[in-house]
Amino acid sequence: MTGKPTYQRPMLVRHQAGLMNKLSRVAGMRPLTEIDGVPVAALVERFGSPLFVFSERSIVSRHRELRDALSVRLPKARLAWSYKTNYLDAVCKVMHREGSLAEVVSEMELDKALRQVAGTEIIFNGPYKPEGALEKAFRAGARVHLDHFDELARAEAVARRLGLAPKVALRINMSLPGITPWSRFGFNLESGQALDAVRRLRAGGVLQLAGLHAHVGTFVQDVDAYRQEARKLSELANLLAREHGVMVEWIDLGGGFASNNTLHAQYLPGEQVTPSFAQYAEAIAEGLAALALPPGREPTIFLETGRALVDEAGSLVTTVHATKRLTDGRRALILDAGVNSLFTAFWYRHDVVPAQPFAGTPEPTILYGPLCMAIDVVRDQLLFPPLSPGDRIVVRNVGAYNVTQWMQFITDRPAVVLVSRTGEAALMRRRESVETLLAQEEVPAWLA
Ligand SMILES: *Cc1c(COP(=O)(O)O)cnc(C)c1O
Repeated sequence: MTGKPTYQRPMLVRHQAGLMNKLSRVAGMRPLTEIDGVPVAALVERFGSPLFVFSERSIVSRHRELRDALSVRLPKARLAWSYKTNYLDAVCKVMHREGSLAEVVSEMELDKALRQVAGTEIIFNGPYKPEGALEKAFRAGARVHLDHFDELARAEAVARRLGLAPKVALRINMSLPGITPWSRFGFNLESGQALDAVRRLRAGGVLQLAGLHAHVGTFVQDVDAYRQEARKLSELANLLAREHGVMVEWIDLGGGFASNNTLHAQYLPGEQVTPSFAQYAEAIAEGLAALALPPGREPTIFLETGRALVDEAGSLVTTVHATKRLTDGRRALILDAGVNSLFTAFWYRHDVVPAQPFAGTPEPTILYGPLCMAIDVVRDQLLFPPLSPGDRIVVRNVGAYNVTQWMQFITDRPAVVLVSRTGEAALMRRRESVETLLAQEEVPAWLA
C-alpha cells in the first residue's frame, strides 16, 4: 500500500466521452494522507473503517467566515444552527460555543437542543409540532415559527391553557425567480394568505406576532434569490408596521447556502460556482435595505445556514474491499461504505481521493458500496488510479446531512470522530453493532 511504488504494466485505455482525461483533472489528484495533521491510516487503525472524520478547525473557520461576512453589513445578524443538518452533540456544542442558537424542526431535535442551550436560544420550525412539543417550547421560551392555520389555532389553545402570551413568528413562502417555491411550508405571500394569517393571529388575542421567517430552498447558488427574499420580507415588515401597528423584532431568512459540493447535474465543480459567504451577505444586506422601521427598532436578523457551515468539515474514510472488471471494460471498486452511510451520493458527484500515494494510469472507474443493492453507487464514473484491496479512499465534503440521514440498512453505521484544533482525535459517535439493532427489538412471547 505504501512505500516503494509497485511496477504497473503499461496499458491502453480507451478515451471515454464525459470523462476528463489524464492530462486534465486527475493529473492534479493528490493523495489525502492526513486530516488536520492526523494520518488517515492511524485514524482507521484506532477507530476502524469505514469512518466519518470531522475537522473542528474547519467548522470553526467556516463559522467565523460567515459571521465576519455578515458583521460587515448586518451587525444585528445571528446564526441558528440547523440541527437536522448534523445533530451530533459534539458538533452542536462547537456551533453553540461559536455563538449559534439552535434551529430545530421536531420534538426530538427540541429535546436534544434543550440539553445544550437555554430555551430562549431555540428557534422551533417545521410543519409538525404536536401539542406536547408546543407546550414544551412555550414553557422554555423558545421562538416558535408557525407553519399553517391549524398550528396557529393549536398554539393559541396551548398558550391559553398555560396562561402565556408567547412571541411567535409566521413562516412565509413566496415565489422567487429561478427557485421552485416550497409552498408546502408556511403562509403564501403573493396570494394574501400571509396577511390573512397576520389578521387571524391578531384577532386571536393570545399570541404576539414578533417575527417573520422564510426558508426558500437548499443548495441555492443564486445570491439574487436572497436579495429578493430579504426585500419581500422587509416590505412585509414595513406593511405590518404601517397598517397593523406590529413592529417585528426578528426576521429569519432561513438557510440554503450552497456548499462546495458538485451536484450531479452540474457541469463545473462546486468550488468554481458556489458563491462566497461575502456574496450571500452582500445580497441579503441589499434586500434588507428596503426595511423602513423607526430608528432603534431594527429587527434582529437570523440565518439558519446548515450545509455550507459543516459540509467541508466532514470526510468519509473508506477501504477498498475488492476490485473488478465490468463487462463494458470499466474498472469497479467495492468499498466498505456505500449509500447507507453516504446519503448525499444521490445528490452530489462527491470528491474522492486516495488516502495513500498511488501510481499507474488512471482509468474510468465506478465506486460501489458494500450493499447487495443496485442503487449502492458512491461515484458512477470518474478517472481514478488503480487501487488494491486494503487501500483507503477519502470522500470529501460529506459533513452535512449524512450523519443524520444515514440508514441502518443491511449493515451498521460507522463511527464518527472529531479531530480537534490541536490534532487530538476522539469519538463523537460509536460504531453500531448487532447489539445496537437488537436493543430496539422484541420477540413476541409466542415465538420465544
Ligand atoms: C433544513 C433547514 C435549514 C438548513 O438548510 P441548509 O440548506 O442546510 O442550509 C434551515 N432552516 C430550515 C427551516 C430548514 O428546514
